[in-house]
Amino acid sequence: CGIVGYIGKKEAFPIIIKGLQRLEYRGYDSAGVALLNGDLNVYKKQGKVSALKEYVQDKDVSANVGIGHTRWATHGEPNDVNAHPHVSNSGKFAMIHNGIIENYAALKTDLEKKGYTFQSETDTEVFINFIEDIFLNTKVDLAEAVRLALNKVIGAYAIAIISLEDPNLMIAARKGSPLVVGLGKEEFFLASDATPIIEYTNEVVYLDDREIAIIKDGKLTIKNVEDVEMKPYVQTVDIEL
Ligand code: GLU
Repeated sequence: CGIVGYIGKKEAFPIIIKGLQRLEYRGYDSAGVALLNGDLNVYKKQGKVSALKEYVQDKDVSANVGIGHTRWATHGEPNDVNAHPHVSNSGKFAMIHNGIIENYAALKTDLEKKGYTFQSETDTEVFINFIEDIFLNTKVDLAEAVRLALNKVIGAYAIAIISLEDPNLMIAARKGSPLVVGLGKEEFFLASDATPIIEYTNEVVYLDDREIAIIKDGKLTIKNVEDVEMKPYVQTVDIEL
């Protein structure tokens, strides 16, 4: 339901938590974060963002890259396991997702035949493993695997993905669910709307449907699912907090 991401030089966790709290008005039943600091640390909890904050008090939350989510359950009851982020079978990729993947059952059956296992009941865990399967079988990079996957999934999504293999990479995409990229100085933000971003930067790019944002090595590239590169349309927002 709510998405926040950060990649840069600051501590990611406080920015993500604050952003999730700014998105609380959207409603949700659980919250979680995935943080990269050499390890991929995933913490998630049913309930309010404050419950997640409480839960991580004795955990390692240091990271300069991370994604966070508030979930409004559509596939699988609200609980800790079904909360996002979801991690692929290899343990390398973490994803948050707003929306619904309508053909997830067929994709899941195919993946199970290949030996994939699932911890949650969500369509999102199927989605990230579907991307992983393409990544492993086609030997393309992660952004291209995401693009190929988006051409096969049916439904609505706003997604963000990070990879243990590349801490300088964050990939986001949308169709039918809003997503905004904030452009800072040597840093990027990601959110469902601009409210979590505007205290850091007023330069934003609103993704269009079927667009993929690839933030890699401090550079933003936007392409659509047909692999056509788009010039980012940078807007200046001026919202009172
Ligand atoms: N369909 C996903 C789930 O049930 C995402 C729900 C959402 O938009 O928060 O976990």
